[in-house]
Amino acid sequence: MEEETTKICPICGSADLYYEAGGSIGFVYHCKNCGHVSSFVVDANAEMAQTIRAEYAKKEGAE
Ligand SMILES: [Zn+2]
Repeated sequence: MEEETTKICPICGSADLYYEAGGSIGFVYHCKNCGHVSSFVVDANAEMAQTIRAEYAKKEGAE
């Protein structure tokens, strides 16, 4: 069974990413939402994306 997935930020769950060449590690992703920079993004289905966003919203609210 194939599920449709989207590349999202592992920190905030935003799909608003852009990437650029990052030297020795290859491509790095920048998250426009939280500013996270990583060579790793999560390939998430809709449910996973929603879970990550909810967790991030909780953390944001706690600070
Ligand atoms: Zn993010």
